[in-house]
Amino acid sequence: MKVLKFGGTSVGSAERMQHVAHLIDDGVQKIVVLSAMSGTTNMLLQAADYIKLGNHTGAADVINTLERKYENETTILLKTEQQHTYVWDKLCSMFAAMRSLIMQPYSLQLEKQMVAFGEQMSTCMFTACLQEQNMDAVLLSALEFMRINADGEPDMTLTTQLLKEQLKKHGNHQIIVTQGFICLNDKEQTDNLKRGGSDYSASIIGACIDAEEIQIWTDIDGMHNNDPRYVEDTKPVPQLSFEEAAELAYFGAKILHPTCILPAKMKSIPVRLLNTLDPAAPGTLISNNYKKGRIEAVAAKDGIAVVRIQSDRMLLAYGFLSRVFAVFEQHKTAIDLIATSEVAVSMSIDNLSHIGEIVEDLRKLGTVSFETGLSIISVVGDLRSDNLGFEAKVTDALKDIPVRMISYGGSDHNISLLVRTDDKVRALRALSKTIF
Ligand code: ADP
Ligand code: ASP
Ligand code: MG
Repeated sequence: MKVLKFGGTSVGSAERMQHVAHLIDDGVQKIVVLSAMSGTTNMLLQAADYIKLGNHTGAADVINTLERKYENETTILLKTEQQHTYVWDKLCSMFAAMRSLIMQPYSLQLEKQMVAFGEQMSTCMFTACLQEQNMDAVLLSALEFMRINADGEPDMTLTTQLLKEQLKKHGNHQIIVTQGFICLNDKEQTDNLKRGGSDYSASIIGACIDAEEIQIWTDIDGMHNNDPRYVEDTKPVPQLSFEEAAELAYFGAKILHPTCILPAKMKSIPVRLLNTLDPAAPGTLISNNYKKGRIEAVAAKDGIAVVRIQSDRMLLAYGFLSRVFAVFEQHKTAIDLIATSEVAVSMSIDNLSHIGEIVEDLRKLGTVSFETGLSIISVVGDLRSDNLGFEAKVTDALKDIPVRMISYGGSDHNISLLVRTDDKVRALRALSKTIF
């Protein structure tokens, strides 16, 4: 069975939903994972923000605006009185639940409950749309099977077990629709897989059922060789290995959730990136195969800080790095890039929530400085050291841009560079010009 995920733009209006319904109507059984309609997640988060600020009128205004939008889209989407009444009743009770959240004091849990309505609304509408067109569709609630553990990571064992139970009950239908993004946590509370998490849902579901293929349908014809939001004339990359795609996703290629390749890679399930607006385009196939001797793509990730610790005690000392890393571990902060010299080590992090404590603890080991406002630029492809000249091309492209740190050799398919975020776009454009 294939798992097909459609993103926010792909289901962003009644017309787009009808287009997707048509696209998947090929008589083959499949699981369809949907995002919220585009813009909805942002609006729900905005409502939660207003609640946090104590601005209940602001929150109510956002919910009212959303309700009008959904009323309108539902009317366009569903032609039969019966389906329309059924769906609108369901959506009205969801809006009532959102309004009751506005009355409550803000908590992170409230925000998670609020933001979960986006996917619940889109899947309710879409399933009815399929049924109205006499397609054999059923809606499975992701809250019945998608589970994360106490660390916020997918609980693959439990999710597999619960999903299989659900499929035993409902798997006789041809199209099984479910929500991306949302899940329950270890306390059985509504939670989510972070922004862009519907890709992750599709990959987790694919891995749980040993799917034949996972398709990520979006608004662009596959993974491009540079970020199309900042660079002109980018081109789709036809083929990537799991490792290459995982690095691009992790280092900022927005088309994929940062960790969504991992479950697919674990089970060697091919992932295809396809364009809802141009379904015939070949897109990108992500699998165990890769093209040798090529740089495939460049991506950038913002919001990076670099922490540097300098100590004479590091000179010829063993165990120094392990003490440094222990500080990051204690504060549950992952390090992305590392550069060491005889007396200093620089490390980049993207989670700045514990930076104060980290710096304080590191000061016990040496002189510490840190800098924020940085971006990691990642160049991905076949970058084994016997492919001569690739790293020279990369550094040559950036000869006019101050590079704060370089990491090369950590894997065979990545060179990462740290630049000021203000220089990011210039760096991406320069790399495209030199490499592609
Ligand atoms: P969806 O709502 O379908 O999940 P996203 O907005 O999350 O879609 O991802 C698709 C967008 O990712 C594209 O419209 C594009 O602007 C952006 N993007 C950033 N980097 C890349 C890249 N390297 N290749 C393709 N798209 C990219
Ligand atoms: N709706 C969620 C978001 O906007 C998840 C997703 O679309 O992938 O982040
Ligand atoms: Mg996305």
